Amino acid sequence: MDHFLYNGGILHAEDVPLPEIARAVGTPAYVYSAATLLRHYTLFDEALAWGPHLVCYAVKAASNVAILKLLGDAGAGMDVVSEGEYRRARAAGVPGDRIVFSGVGKTEGEMRHVLASGVRQINLESEPEMRLLSRVATEMGLDVPVTVRVNPDVDAKTHEKIATGRSDDKFGIPIARARAVYAEIAALPGLRVVGIDVHIGSQLTDLDPFRAAYRKVADLTETLRAEGHTIERLDLGGGLGIPYARSNLAPPVPLEYGRVIQEEVGHLGCEIEIEPGRLIAGNAGILMASTIFVKAGETRDFLILDAAMNDLIRPAMYGAHHDIVPVVEAAPGAETRPFDVVGPVCESGDTFAKGRDMVPPRAGDLVAFRSAGAYGAVMSSEYNSRPMVPEVLVQGDQYAVIRARPTFDEMISRDTIPEWLSDA
Ligand SMILES: *Cc1c(COP(=O)(O)O)cnc(C)c1O
Repeated sequence: MDHFLYNGGILHAEDVPLPEIARAVGTPAYVYSAATLLRHYTLFDEALAWGPHLVCYAVKAASNVAILKLLGDAGAGMDVVSEGEYRRARAAGVPGDRIVFSGVGKTEGEMRHVLASGVRQINLESEPEMRLLSRVATEMGLDVPVTVRVNPDVDAKTHEKIATGRSDDKFGIPIARARAVYAEIAALPGLRVVGIDVHIGSQLTDLDPFRAAYRKVADLTETLRAEGHTIERLDLGGGLGIPYARSNLAPPVPLEYGRVIQEEVGHLGCEIEIEPGRLIAGNAGILMASTIFVKAGETRDFLILDAAMNDLIRPAMYGAHHDIVPVVEAAPGAETRPFDVVGPVCESGDTFAKGRDMVPPRAGDLVAFRSAGAYGAVMSSEYNSRPMVPEVLVQGDQYAVIRARPTFDEMISRDTIPEWLSDA
């Protein structure tokens, strides 16, 4: 459920009509609903209410500091994968002891920064990384809480580019090596084992792969405990999927997911951490765009928008589907016809949808890409020198620009001409 609904034929974000935001901010623009973000966070929090837990929002899904502040103030922890994300979480006021540091390639500089500023735990992903962290922690006189991300060799049955838990993916250490690795950590100074970490992929629409992975984690917990390790925390990752098309079957909801967690690992008495990103932010944001032209092609008609692949890359990168809806509802019974919905960027990949049935818009008409809140703005770029897409946060009847669109001058002045090329 989200808070983007038609009211009087006009799509609103909560109580704000989207055309009002378009007039003030221009298009394209991302618009987020605070109520939806909070609702999704709360659903996860309630799904784990049966035991001690922390919902660590995966910052990479939508990392605007205002969004992090909203969720952090509600009690969320954060899962970060870089120093930049860590700094964003801290800038949003989230304390270090609610921030989990994940990621395949943490650098020594990143380790030093988060250790000096405070971190809840570091999820280790390789043996070289644990040796480096041991050295850094020892030099800093610290005893760092760590988990090891194990790769359970479970196929998440999701898109190739976002499956992370198969044995040939780059993430974590093979679960079969876990005993040896935990033994090595126990012998290293500066590291204190607190638990196990797993994350098998993103946009999972079936609970079975989660169940399979969590069962393996439960077995591993017993094994490692028997060998004398303290396993008191299980970080079970993120990955629960969202419905991208209204017409599709809805994937499992957080409550069902929480029940699977309870069934598989609830008996172990561990504190549970989860790292949802997409489900919290995905349906809490839309990308609003304007129609530039409707162009009749030889074999098909094109709807050319002022949003492009640089603003929303998911269709080009993952072949992802987004529902594209008019901001002002068409008259009932208006006829639809198929359009290829494209942006102005000079690549054929700059195609959002092919043969999408729509009521023919006119130039200037606004459309909204639904379910664009996660992996949308964060993956945007200025390709084709299109200034970075702005972000707007709505709460009730108020809205605020939380990242402004740079002016052309601002965009261009980030480049510098070397002295040896300058005219002067
Ligand atoms: C990407 C990622 C997440 C979030 O995944 P979602 O599918 O957005 O819930 C959580 N944990 C880790 C380690 C990740 O890489």
